[in-house]
Amino acid sequence: MQAALMYGAGDVRIETVAQPVIQEPTDAIVRITAACICGSDLWPYGSKPATAEGARMGHEFVGIVEELGTAVTGLSVGDFVIAPFVTSCGVCDFCREGLQTSCRVGGRWGGTHDGGQGQFARVPHASGTLVRVPAGFDETLIPSLLSLSDVMSTGYHAAKKAGIRPGQAVTVIGDGAVGLSAVIAAKLMGASRIILMGRHKSRTDLGREFGATDVVAERGAEGAAKVRELTDGDGTPVVLEAVGLKDALVTAAAVVRDGGVISRVGAPQFADVPLGFPEFLRNITLTGGVAPARAYIEELLPLVLDGTINPGRVFDRTTDLAGVPDGYQAMAGRQALKVLVKPQP
Ligand SMILES: [Zn+2]
Ligand SMILES: [Zn+2]
Repeated sequence: MQAALMYGAGDVRIETVAQPVIQEPTDAIVRITAACICGSDLWPYGSKPATAEGARMGHEFVGIVEELGTAVTGLSVGDFVIAPFVTSCGVCDFCREGLQTSCRVGGRWGGTHDGGQGQFARVPHASGTLVRVPAGFDETLIPSLLSLSDVMSTGYHAAKKAGIRPGQAVTVIGDGAVGLSAVIAAKLMGASRIILMGRHKSRTDLGREFGATDVVAERGAEGAAKVRELTDGDGTPVVLEAVGLKDALVTAAAVVRDGGVISRVGAPQFADVPLGFPEFLRNITLTGGVAPARAYIEELLPLVLDGTINPGRVFDRTTDLAGVPDGYQAMAGRQALKVLVKPQP
């Protein structure tokens, strides 16, 4: 079968790799009908040192169950399933608490494991990992179902961890797919005002359709001043940070109201958190983290199926596997917001 491998920064190739087979009785083999390139894939795409061995890529996919190990329960061959961006057993203490990202035996996609950007994947702990779509395969729902793998669940996690209450004002930092999903989530949770900070007009326009009431294109101190101006100088009680850069967290601190919450879901590209004594004096809460998408898929799936939310609109380009290297380039160059990949011929 064919799959994408990253050999180093800017170097993604499509190659023939081993067809996956069942290795453990808890495995499933899934034929991937749709996958995508993630904003987080762009970090290694920009900085990964050159390697002799490529790393398999992609951690978001939907597909059809082809084969099941003997110990898999709750799934059948032919099921249309969503794979969250990490694998999880479904039975350990963390999985039962809904924190599947901390699963005792969970794992990641890609690297030396199968990834989403390929034709098939071996899915460890299939019963715990995969979510069956009760409506079955539906081509038109693919983009939104696929978004539940990661970006929509991650945006929702930001809003959940912030504990948004109906009527609250929320600032969302970042107009990437996660930021736009966070807008959807804030609206779902009843935010009365959603200020979206982003400078790409086509993206912030989509953000307005998702529920953003205000857009601030300025960045840094200038952007923060703009948000404060919009909120009588106070800032908003909730800030959802969906970028992952230090500057974005500094901006978050500058636009959060005293006593408020910063919920961050942008994968941090820095080690030291820039929240010190001034934020201490203002009683700012920092929360967020990696999203247990598996916990949210079942909650969000009915909203996708009944059309309440349509997060699949974040995909603005579709390609086959051969077009994946170009897809990376387009996302890195900001010509594409999020690229959907159809790996089957
Ligand atoms: Zn992702
Ligand atoms: Zn577990």
